[in-house]
Amino acid sequence: MTPAAYAVLDLEAVQHNLTRIRNYAPQAKIMAVIKANAYGHGLLRIAAHLTNVDAFAVARVDEAVRLRRSGFLQRIAVLEGFACAEELNDLLHYQIDAVVHCAEQIALLEQADSVQALRVWLKCDSGMNRLGFKNQEFIAAYQRLRQLSWIAQPINLMTHLANADNREDDMTLSQVQLFKRLTQECSGERSIANSAGILGWQEALSDWVRPGIMLYGISPFANQSGTQLGLKPIMSLHSHLIAVKHIEKGESVGYAGRWICEHPTRFGVVAIGYGDGYPRYAKTGTPVLVNGLRVPLIGRVSMDMITVDLASQPHAKPGDPVILWGKGLDVEEIAHCADTIPYTLVCGITQRVQIVEQEA
Ligand SMILES: *Cc1c(COP(=O)(O)O)cnc(C)c1O
Repeated sequence: MTPAAYAVLDLEAVQHNLTRIRNYAPQAKIMAVIKANAYGHGLLRIAAHLTNVDAFAVARVDEAVRLRRSGFLQRIAVLEGFACAEELNDLLHYQIDAVVHCAEQIALLEQADSVQALRVWLKCDSGMNRLGFKNQEFIAAYQRLRQLSWIAQPINLMTHLANADNREDDMTLSQVQLFKRLTQECSGERSIANSAGILGWQEALSDWVRPGIMLYGISPFANQSGTQLGLKPIMSLHSHLIAVKHIEKGESVGYAGRWICEHPTRFGVVAIGYGDGYPRYAKTGTPVLVNGLRVPLIGRVSMDMITVDLASQPHAKPGDPVILWGKGLDVEEIAHCADTIPYTLVCGITQRVQIVEQEA
């Protein structure tokens, strides 16, 4: 019996996308970003298919500890670093790289004393205005870290791009220039580029790149899909029709009667909804593949179901296969129809969705 809602993961696509990343940044070491359960694809599963990257990056200490406890011995960096002495101890114990982005963290490092070395990435705020040290504070932080004998030297240096997905915005170039200027005198390795930086800005390539979304075959750009960039989507979200009905002119479908039928037609009910992670705000007209062909979503998305117009498919019947995004239907297009970004869609797949791994 096939589950009502399931995600098929094409795990061969992981290596394909990695090869693309290497083509874009042939000189760079790769820190594969697998935070947030590998963007909804499964932390341990994706890590296991990334045997040949130079490091993993996650957002939180517990994600890194989970990797270690599951036996992953690769280098791991925690992008938000540590928030307290306990987390710092975990990083030391499990030999995990810490991003250092604020004065409180440096104070914790100065109070601690370790026989083990800690590898750090000092983060420069070059304009994102989220994490990191700005200008003179960055230089000062660097000097303070240099004084600590148990901090591995040289200190690694990083920054994050705020608007690299807009190829017209000069902000990326100013961020890169500022970062290069501030780190001029430092000897450590550097990292700037996320996926949009790798794909859109040669200037942002440096010793290390940090691809996230493109690893999963998805584009960071609004006007270009992963498929168009030569990437292969890993995730396809599937379901099937559970009812097919007729509707007369003037009748409405679903909650709030939002969609009113203009001529008699057939419509189908698909067993997937926002309880599975399908976006609640997908608009009427959002494409859905029924039997491999596009039909429009109609009415409101509910928790367990959506409805689609089957006027173009007179023979569609319960049990017929449905694809919500993935192979043949770019998740980028669905994100656009729901006024969101594809990141939120793949990250938002819920526990109820069964995962089906596909290899070879
Ligand atoms: C999430 C994240 C990335 C990866 O970003 P993508 O847009 O998914 O490639 C890289 N660097 C940092 C600091 C991040 O937080």
